[in-house]
Amino acid sequence: MAVPVSQAWTVATYVLKQKLSGRKRYPLVLMLEPLFRCNLACAGCGKIQYPAHILKSELTPEECFKAVEECGAPMVSIPGGEPLLHPHMPEIVAGLVARKKYVYMCTNALLLKEKLHFFKPSKYLSFSVHVDGEKEHHDFSVCREGGHDIAMEGIRAAVAAGFRVTTNTTLFDGADPNSVRRHFDQLMAAGVESMMVSPGYTYDKAPDQNHFLGKAKSRRLFRAILSNRKKSWEFNTHPLFAEFLMGKRNFECTPWGMPTFSIFGWQKPCYLLQDGYADSFQELMEATNWDNYGAKSGNPQCANCMVHSGHEASAVDYNFGSLKGFIETAKRYMLPSLYPDAEAEKLLNEWKPAHAMPLVQIRSASNDQLQPVSGD
Ligand code: SF4
Repeated sequence: MAVPVSQAWTVATYVLKQKLSGRKRYPLVLMLEPLFRCNLACAGCGKIQYPAHILKSELTPEECFKAVEECGAPMVSIPGGEPLLHPHMPEIVAGLVARKKYVYMCTNALLLKEKLHFFKPSKYLSFSVHVDGEKEHHDFSVCREGGHDIAMEGIRAAVAAGFRVTTNTTLFDGADPNSVRRHFDQLMAAGVESMMVSPGYTYDKAPDQNHFLGKAKSRRLFRAILSNRKKSWEFNTHPLFAEFLMGKRNFECTPWGMPTFSIFGWQKPCYLLQDGYADSFQELMEATNWDNYGAKSGNPQCANCMVHSGHEASAVDYNFGSLKGFIETAKRYMLPSLYPDAEAEKLLNEWKPAHAMPLVQIRSASNDQLQPVSGD
């Protein structure tokens, strides 16, 4: 199973309660961004372009706990920035675990091995390590030579220390599906519990604007990657969201499913866009004009978006929204499909590597010191 049974049960009972109470919009995962500073400068990132005084700011543990309680979602994802640069991250994680939240702490793992002893293994805590592909691809993607090796070392150290470890792979134009499939083999061999994969979002602030995927290209790429699956692969994405990525079904965006809280407050409407901020979760839900977002709205910022933070909660909602959705999902879990697809096999065999790595200079780990972590 890609997640512990207790987690699946907690999420299922939470969503059923929302449905039975007639709540139309409910949060599933809180995206808690306690800081924006990072020890990488990835070409496709839209989060690290803030001025220095913003990059130095961070949420306090109390602010994090208040947001988690206001929101009430059963799962908390901690992206950033690099959470391990936050001096109070162990305290934040311990507080969330004590509140029985299932926490995915997203990290590039550059500091994971040396910081592991600040955390305790728990069924509530998973390190979600950002690894975008095989060595060459990942190093280009994160603009740091040697980044892949350090991330894999961090994964192995965390697995050996008894932590739950998952991974997070973001794909851009130029990704080679054959290489991504080898990457999945390497991650599973390193002992990860399960993997998450998503297309990148077209951030207008990202340094590399040439390699974001449009919808048709995304579907073709994900069909090649996720069809004819190996039995050894485990994914922690909802199976129907994976089918959405492969172009087998459609979901409209439900941005309220993964609301974002950061040093600026509650971000409208989603993790990716910044159409203002609300002071409270309730204000976010009530004052956001949700009809302005998603592919159907005609909003050009949403036209090419297929990211998990907008669409995975839609798959979960569909799962629990009707008997049909429930049966379709139950079948995927009980009889996992490997998605046999001769056409996709052909696509894979004929795929021409685009040599389209982001055209940015990569920094060498040896000549660029990691940002020190204060307070530890
Ligand atoms: S479609 Fe994407 S960009 Fe638009 S609201 Fe949803 S998640 Fe945000």
